[in-house]
Amino acid sequence: MLFLNDLLGTALLGRLILCSPLFAGLSFSYQLLYLLDATGFYSLGLHALGIHVCRATGQELMDTSSRISKIRSRERERLRGPPWLKAVQGALLRCSYTMLDYAQTGLIAAVFFFKMMEWWYQSAEERMSAPTVYPPPPPPPPPKVAKEGISLPNDRTMCPLCSQKRANPSVVTVSGFVFCYACIFKYISQYNRCPITLMPSNVDQIRRLFHDM
Ligand SMILES: [Zn+2]
Repeated sequence: MLFLNDLLGTALLGRLILCSPLFAGLSFSYQLLYLLDATGFYSLGLHALGIHVCRATGQELMDTSSRISKIRSRERERLRGPPWLKAVQGALLRCSYTMLDYAQTGLIAAVFFFKMMEWWYQSAEERMSAPTVYPPPPPPPPPKVAKEGISLPNDRTMCPLCSQKRANPSVVTVSGFVFCYACIFKYISQYNRCPITLMPSNVDQIRRLFHDM
């Protein structure tokens, strides 16, 4: 239990140190000084460890690569056994060297490929989950005009019954034709049908239209 407490205490202390403004200020000043070439240490931790961070020169890189190739050729020379075993081991070594040489490039390419696939499939999923917009349905066909019924006026704003401008336009719901309220109420009360289609109707099926309000 004591151990756990100690561990928690250390973790908390570490977090406090990392989060404190003092630490942030210190690491900022280290970075600024490093940028201005006033110090060779990039951070407080590296200063404590005595590690300088600097860019390798071309000569250093070449030296490193030649050193690596020397080590590799020495390792190949150290192979012992019959010729076929040496050939197999040499091939395996060459394989592992190639893998090591191209590991960084391969890793970058793999990450790039993975991110690309992620983006590709995400956009496909978004496309699939987008709501489908259906076109509005076509309007229903106009009702059939009965031969025995009254004819429709040429001016569609007129009432077919009184041939005047419609007053209080009202629709007969069984057919959809519009008349003056007074005209159609009187007609349906008398004949119980739509005057144009002759479809059976009653006064409860008259609706006042409020489209002009
Ligand atoms: Zn009328």
